[in-house]
Amino acid sequence: MSTILVTGGAGFVGSHTCVSLLEKGFKVIVVDSNINSSPIALDRVEDILKIKHKSYEKIVFEKGDIRDEIFLRNIFNRAIKRYSEIKAVIHFAGLKSIRESVIDPLSYWDSNLIGTLTLLKVMNDFNCKTIVFSSSASIYGNEVRTPIVETSPIKPNNPYGKTKAAIEKILHDLFISTSNREWRIANLRYFNPIGSHKTGLIGENPNNVPNNLFPLICGVAIGRYEKLNIYGNDWPTKDGTGVRDYIHVMDLAEGHLLVLELLIKNKPQILSMNLGTGSGTSVLELISVFEKINGVKIPYHFSKRREGDNAFVVADNNLAKSILNWEPRMSIQEMCRDGYLWQIKNPKGYLN
Ligand code: NAD
Ligand code: UDP
Repeated sequence: MSTILVTGGAGFVGSHTCVSLLEKGFKVIVVDSNINSSPIALDRVEDILKIKHKSYEKIVFEKGDIRDEIFLRNIFNRAIKRYSEIKAVIHFAGLKSIRESVIDPLSYWDSNLIGTLTLLKVMNDFNCKTIVFSSSASIYGNEVRTPIVETSPIKPNNPYGKTKAAIEKILHDLFISTSNREWRIANLRYFNPIGSHKTGLIGENPNNVPNNLFPLICGVAIGRYEKLNIYGNDWPTKDGTGVRDYIHVMDLAEGHLLVLELLIKNKPQILSMNLGTGSGTSVLELISVFEKINGVKIPYHFSKRREGDNAFVVADNNLAKSILNWEPRMSIQEMCRDGYLWQIKNPKGYLN
């Protein structure tokens, strides 16, 4: 089976995708600096595999930063010597907090852009020309026409989204750089991934206080935070709170696997597609589902709108459905159930 390099594989989406890759029999090499993750996540990924599979390919973990070119070259070389050449890269590594990116844009450009450029340079040198890139719905900025289609204008309104849009442009330039196309590229534009693997063994484990709604709800549910602060109840939505397209992280992982297989099997191409469920859930609806399915209470209060927020951000996911034959399977109830299971089993994340 092919060897796949997963950058940022110890992180939230990366660790769940590693489960799907190993279940399919891929050899997985993870590169991660652990700036926002723990190496224990990868032990847990293997624990999940042990539950159902008598044997599986162990993950090779290479701790380090993707901006370190020599480190990356060594990994590509070692793969050739020890397993098989790296067939493709799934590129999750990067910084992901919108708020942090506004305060510290240089770190975001450095990590996300320089990291990706270094990776692409090394991939090119080793003739590894298949990449699945973690892009984001944030590249659409304040798009008001929803559901959002992939042909919507790319107008990010924060440094984080701008780094993602810039990387998509670089990947496009790379694709058209040779007349006989050589690269196989997929830009996956995620909407709002939440939940966790159904075992509760892996989950979202930010090293700092989270800014996103779902980990904050989980934090309130276990008493880490007293109350949830809801940013505005005067949005032009059904109940006045912001609407998002939440997608179960395992459905997202499945999308990665399908696109990877499609790229590997087919001729060089570049694809950009949304990964979301296509349906919107408001903050109040999410709280209500979470409370019901988990039998907990989430105290909240309303504050003013968060700067740069949008009322309604929902994906048109028809492209992914038709090209990948992919269908998000998990409901909002399952997202809330699984995410909470991870949280109660691991109240301190991987520090238990
Ligand atoms: P995460 O922070 O949990 O995972 C990212 C991983 O990359 C972490 O393990 C971190 O330690 C590692 N990393 C960061 N910079 C690195 C570097 N320079 N070198 C090596 N490793 C590095 O984030 P996630 O939620 O799993 O997101 C994965 C990717 O998907 C990110 O690129 C993110 O921007 C993108 N994305 C995430 C969301 C979301 O809501 N989770 C939405 C859209 C897009
Ligand atoms: N939100 C909120 N309180 C919080 C964090 C988020 O009310 O502490 C709202 C936010 O205004 C938005 C929704 O929850 O309507 C999802 O926000 P998140 O930051 O998770 O995702 P994003 O806005 O980046 O899609």
